[in-house]
Amino acid sequence: MPTTPTPTHCPYCALQCGMNLTALPGKGVEVTERADFPVNRGALCGKGRTAPALLSPGVRLTSPLVRSGGVLTPAGWDEALDRVAEGLSRARTEHGPDALGVFGGGGLTNEKAYALGKFARVVLGTSQIDYNGRFCMSSAAAASVRAFGLDRGLPFPLEDVSRTGCVILVGSNLAETMPPALRCLTELRENGGTLIVVDPRRTRTAEQADLHLAPRPGTDLALALGLLHLVVAEGRTDEAYIRERTSGWEDARAAAMAHWPEYVERITGVPVPELRAAVRLFCAPENAMVLTARGPEQQSRGTDTVSAWINLCLATGRAGRPHSGYGCLTGQGNGQGGREHGQKADQLPGYRKLTDPAARRHVAEVWGVDPDTLPGPGRSAYELLDALGTDIRTLLLMGSNPVVSAPRAAHIEERLRSLDFLAVCDVVLSETAALADVVLPVTQWAEETGTTTNLEGRVLLRRRALPPPPGIRSDLEVLHGLAARLGVEKGFPTEPQDVFDELRRASAGGPADYSGITYRRLAEESGVFWPCPAADGAEAAEGVSPHVLPQDPAQDGSPAAVHPGTPRLFLDRFATEDGRARFAAVSYRAVAEEPDDTYPVLLTTGRVVAQYQSGAQTRRVEELNAAAPGPYVEMHPRLAERLGAADGEPVAVVSRRGRAVAPARVSRAIRPDTVFMPFHWPGEGRANTLTNPALDPTSRMPEFKVCAVRLERVRSA
Ligand code: SF4
Repeated sequence: MPTTPTPTHCPYCALQCGMNLTALPGKGVEVTERADFPVNRGALCGKGRTAPALLSPGVRLTSPLVRSGGVLTPAGWDEALDRVAEGLSRARTEHGPDALGVFGGGGLTNEKAYALGKFARVVLGTSQIDYNGRFCMSSAAAASVRAFGLDRGLPFPLEDVSRTGCVILVGSNLAETMPPALRCLTELRENGGTLIVVDPRRTRTAEQADLHLAPRPGTDLALALGLLHLVVAEGRTDEAYIRERTSGWEDARAAAMAHWPEYVERITGVPVPELRAAVRLFCAPENAMVLTARGPEQQSRGTDTVSAWINLCLATGRAGRPHSGYGCLTGQGNGQGGREHGQKADQLPGYRKLTDPAARRHVAEVWGVDPDTLPGPGRSAYELLDALGTDIRTLLLMGSNPVVSAPRAAHIEERLRSLDFLAVCDVVLSETAALADVVLPVTQWAEETGTTTNLEGRVLLRRRALPPPPGIRSDLEVLHGLAARLGVEKGFPTEPQDVFDELRRASAGGPADYSGITYRRLAEESGVFWPCPAADGAEAAEGVSPHVLPQDPAQDGSPAAVHPGTPRLFLDRFATEDGRARFAAVSYRAVAEEPDDTYPVLLTTGRVVAQYQSGAQTRRVEELNAAAPGPYVEMHPRLAERLGAADGEPVAVVSRRGRAVAPARVSRAIRPDTVFMPFHWPGEGRANTLTNPALDPTSRMPEFKVCAVRLERVRSA
């Protein structure tokens, strides 16, 4: 007999679609519609529908693995945890705490991300912790902090997208990455709004647009500056808003005015009439939005690029008003929460800065340690991976697969192989886990309770629907076991709710304040938007950011009420010192690698609907694998003709970092100067063998989205 359906959320992307899981005794779980969750209203993509396939023993790891005689061999938990503790201890004794690296993931629940950050700083004493979310939206986060004083992917609910007047969607292919969210764009147009898509490819999302701008990859910064130039030249700025709610306009204006439309056309390839049409559409309605995703963000000028798009919103008076403004479409399942609770190199829980003395004091008190013992900021994700085998001798990795997902992936694979010791916690034997000395098999989504924070800043409860199979432990149990072996007996509970309650205290008073959010509330509501301080202020601490907090509902002297959470940020003021949003005076500079005689073509990368990130999970699901079995090189017919390659014929793509081979997919949907490869596969078709790790100076985001390549025909022997 099936059990009662358990309402929960999808294990994959940042939309965190609601779904019901029904445990069918002896047969795993069944996914059914959950119409009450407002983000997806029952809709799911193929990945969500087929997610239970990963629960089956034939797909997943079922026992710890320990390398013995060069081969990974099944072992007991005590032996495996002893080996990991020994590997960590040895590196610390021989080389000091910063020889220990910790690498997390944007798919980990808030509880796991929090516990991992605490484990690194309290148990290991290392500063060398970062996570793969650095590769996802860190430049957008940096630009939001620069402009608004705070980063929350979308500072408004997703439903606002349906109700605005115009959306400029920059570098996002929602139709493939988050299909249920496409409904918002359809409703936008049904409500009379307009959609502008900026993408070098005519994607399935771009096909729905009123206007599709197809700039050369890596020129989004120039495009945004050109649009702002036209806004000023055509007298479409909102002077009252600029005066009352912003600062820094004159410098930003002067920078934009240096980017004449004709100059921008030469850089981007977007004709001036299209630039003018975009400005007309964007400025006509009272409300409008710019939404960015990885296209403009994964560039070595990613922060400046997003700043330029935010400038456009500020100059036209869009940000900090209902149904209007700037937002980033975060990608990974807990990409938002993952960057708020301490697994990022420079942050403490509650989105606090690790360098802020008040934040250190507060978190150290919650952790029961001396603030002076907390290490300072460490290396960013790529820099950390690049230091493996040199400064960093041992790595503990949780929920990430950098062999496939890191830029310059062959080099990172070599770095991983050069470590003295590698421990990986994962659900499946990913390409990175296959290199480990010890692999620890952990529980997954349907088998554990925990919270995630979706792309809107909505904190959600994922509920356990069935027990894990024998031989599997949770990441929290792993950290508890390792901490105990390393001499820390207390402070690493294994119950997610206990970890969350501590996280609430640690986050209290910080920008991402969760202190008023409880498991009970999450079980009763469709999520709660942060900041949500405890209503009675009991959890409040020094360093409160009053700019971001809404009016305390209990301020009228009535008994403390439950704080409702904050679906929309910045309506009264921005989270800056003076409450004003800050323009950034940014100018165009070319990407790190421009095409030349040796590498004359641009490569851009992205996702396909049936696969997710490094593909470690989705490549193991039969239905998804059948729909998207391998990589390809999308190219324009003119480029294919020049190369002499037919559709389906294998071609080599060569960059300064390596070579990848995949079948040509000839299509008029892409610019003739650009090729596209999806990045979900390892081996000879691994797109990230080619990508450029040139880093954005502010966010340390690598330039995944554009590099110079040459194409070669691959002749069969
Ligand atoms: Fe899951 Fe994202 Fe698909 Fe929704 S859109 S079902 S969250 S993968």
